[in-house]
Amino acid sequence: MDLGIAGRWALVCAASKGLGRGCAAALVREGVNVVITARGADALNVTAAELRTLGAGEVKAIVGDIATPEGRAAALAAAPHIDILVNNAGGPPPGDFRDWDRAAWIAAIEANMLTPIELMKATVDGMAERGFGRVVNITSGAVKAPIDNLGLSNGARSGLTGFVAGLARQKRLAGANVTINNLLPGAFDTDRIRKTMEGAAAKTGQSMAEVLSKRTQAIPSQRLGAADEFGAVCAFLCSVHASYLTGQNILLDGGAYPGTF
Ligand code: NAP
Repeated sequence: MDLGIAGRWALVCAASKGLGRGCAAALVREGVNVVITARGADALNVTAAELRTLGAGEVKAIVGDIATPEGRAAALAAAPHIDILVNNAGGPPPGDFRDWDRAAWIAAIEANMLTPIELMKATVDGMAERGFGRVVNITSGAVKAPIDNLGLSNGARSGLTGFVAGLARQKRLAGANVTINNLLPGAFDTDRIRKTMEGAAAKTGQSMAEVLSKRTQAIPSQRLGAADEFGAVCAFLCSVHASYLTGQNILLDGGAYPGTF
């Protein structure tokens, strides 16, 4: 299927690794020009070089913290305009809410709620004027089924989800072919989940293999997801074919969420 987005400009935040990288790769394969960001220059430049081998589009790598005004300004300035925005940032740390002070909450809200809102504010009206726009926010399955030790993530991402539910339904956006959706990852095989599992292994005295096996046994698909398959769904949401799909929360979790809806 031709997704019909070759030549468009995308900003994919936090994309040197993991799910952001998977989204950027899928868009580049469709001929989209992409701006990718991360804080660490080394991994970002390696990823940019790899992405350039995948498609005809331009790939720009912008080093910076997307959770800061400077990081966002640099990312936005790298493209002539943004047709596709993929919001992403590192997830907040796990822990017990009794240990989190106000600064911990503000950092989580900055990265996982206010940053995507700022980037949407900077881009969606321009998208509407040009008659095409796609926003995909990478959130978490924790929005649908909260994870006990990820309270910062549960809280900050739920704030974003509530905001997006309203924004996506503004007629001046939805009526101008601008869609805004959230993609909710379950367990995907990335550095982040490996680190979480290493922490669990160290805490419980189990081997990594045991922790991984227990985790995958609890997933009907019996495996972790791959960043490339996450990217493929993201690219479809960004396609010309998905213009009637907006304001939705799409869970990719191998069937782990046990509800009917
Ligand atoms: P990952 O493999 O650790 O990759 C994170 C990427 O984001 C890296 O490229 C990292 O590069 C970049 N990054 C992090 N913070 C950034 C910032 N402030 N500014 C710019 N770039 C930043 O993580 P992932 O598994 O892909 O997770 C992506 C998001 O999905 C996270 O919010 C995570 O909590 C959420 N999620 C993941 C899973 C999963 O199973 N993997 C499940 C649910 C939710 P630098 O460190 O160099 O900046």
